[in-house]
Amino acid sequence: MTRTVTPMKQTASMYRLTALNPLLRRRQWSWRTVAFIAIAIVATLLVAMLNPRQVLAYDVAIQPASPQQGDTVSIFVTANAGATQVPTVTVNGEIYPTFAIGGDRYRTFVPSSPLHNPGRYVIQVTGAEPPRNPAFWLDRRSFQVQRITLSASAAGIEGTDHEFDRVQAFKDTLSPTKYWTGPFQRPSQGRVSSEYGVRRYYNGVFADDYYHRGIDYAAATGSPVVAPAAGRVTLVGRVANGFELHGNTIGIDHGQGVGSIFIHLNSIAVNEGDMVQAGQTIGTIGSTGASTGPHLHWGVYVNGVAVDPGPWRNGGME
Ligand SMILES: [Zn+2]
Repeated sequence: MTRTVTPMKQTASMYRLTALNPLLRRRQWSWRTVAFIAIAIVATLLVAMLNPRQVLAYDVAIQPASPQQGDTVSIFVTANAGATQVPTVTVNGEIYPTFAIGGDRYRTFVPSSPLHNPGRYVIQVTGAEPPRNPAFWLDRRSFQVQRITLSASAAGIEGTDHEFDRVQAFKDTLSPTKYWTGPFQRPSQGRVSSEYGVRRYYNGVFADDYYHRGIDYAAATGSPVVAPAAGRVTLVGRVANGFELHGNTIGIDHGQGVGSIFIHLNSIAVNEGDMVQAGQTIGTIGSTGASTGPHLHWGVYVNGVAVDPGPWRNGGME
């Protein structure tokens, strides 16, 4: 077996580089050269800073400052003079709906959940330069863990396509009018029997996609359920019409991608299309659908994600 050895070639460009570039040929630079380069760098930076094309067209503010999994992150964009169009807000490459909230201000909700990876989320706003993007850091939050043992026969109720389609359409609702004002009210006076975000093991196997997508309130059958905030009733589903899993259900659209869902109800006091006010009775607590006892499950959806209703109740969202 013969082996061919190819000698390393020195290319013509390598010679040209050393022959023609005086900076590479000279071993030491004079003080004059160093000073000239320093002045050139400073001058370039000054020109870049003062160039009007690189002034921010929008100011971006993020709330809360240190969000954690389950929080609804608000991105407030304030347009500076000259910026007229509604900005497009993108977070980690995904576009989120943005609405004018008065004056030169716009607001974008970025929902998060236990399924959102902790870490850095980079925001891009169209028209904002220079391309040094603001970002927020989503903190990890520890959620309660339940261990559930299912017997082979306990497959339970699977639900119908009809109810899943209706509930999905409710989560996807995006209407431009903002109906809610101020913090959300507690929808039931019952005690909280299950918190938001609880994770589960089924027969020892961690359920990757499961988290408790709301808050449960336990109270006697027939106890009132009130609307936590104003909105339009866009979903009424009943066991008799195929809501086998959710049971009797109400969905309220609070506007701008925010909605509340109420499931396992005993009775329903509203119709689809109704406008409801905060505190208005909409139904009563029950144990319909896949439920083991009378309780209300209340879920808050923001742009399709079940977020922690806590911050909506406590501080409220602009
Ligand atoms: Zn629940």
